[in-house]
Amino acid sequence: MSFIIENIVNIKRRIRTAAEFSGRNPNEIKLLLATKTVLAQNIITAIESGETLIGENKVQELKDKYEELKNTPHQTHFIGHLQTNKIKEVIKYTDCIQSVDRLELAEKLQKRLEFENRTLDVFIQVNTSYEASKFGVSPENTLIFTQQIKQLDRLNIKGLMTIGLFSTEKEKVRKCFQLLKKIQLQMLDKDFPVYELSMGMSNDLETAIEEGSTIIRVGTAIFGKRPFPDSYYWNDDK
Ligand SMILES: *Cc1c(COP(=O)(O)O)cnc(C)c1O
Repeated sequence: MSFIIENIVNIKRRIRTAAEFSGRNPNEIKLLLATKTVLAQNIITAIESGETLIGENKVQELKDKYEELKNTPHQTHFIGHLQTNKIKEVIKYTDCIQSVDRLELAEKLQKRLEFENRTLDVFIQVNTSYEASKFGVSPENTLIFTQQIKQLDRLNIKGLMTIGLFSTEKEKVRKCFQLLKKIQLQMLDKDFPVYELSMGMSNDLETAIEEGSTIIRVGTAIFGKRPFPDSYYWNDDK
């Protein structure tokens, strides 16, 4: 059996254990494969094993793999930092952008979608760890930001996304996820349809599930280590 399939089985087991630990139904937690730097052939192996949701960070890479992946049915979310000059390209290849983090981006997406007469699913990315190296709306501004996004009728708001603090101190990481959950509850209270919470990665998915995650994004634990540190992939400039 491919190491990829073995790793997916292992992740599924981790999801189930964490869900049961917190009294949740494991079926309400979706697995998104974070496939940056992963070869198309390995992504196909994962998709054919039954995992149909993938996430890419860079527009060029997304585009490069598109042809190879297009005959293997799956969904693609964009999870990286997005430059506005790449909007036209990215929306050709994605079903959803999880990293909407500023008004300028949202407004330009709206414009392009109007031009193409279509809509797009989006998540609001929130910087729950307050780290300068990470993108995302500040937690204090998320409500106002979402109100502004709601005026843009081509964007379907689906949920909130965050990257937890990189730390071995689990309780500090947990605070990020609790904060995103708290923001979600405030928004649901105001009828913003942010039903999905995209949080949790290879190292912190249990904590994220305990705090209410509905989508975990897993790369390393399935496909192995990447050549560069994560901050490299968060910027789409390169
Ligand atoms: C790379 C990446 C992930 C997956 O991280 P791993 O630690 O490899 O599981 C999740 N979310 C985002 C936004 C990423 O860039």
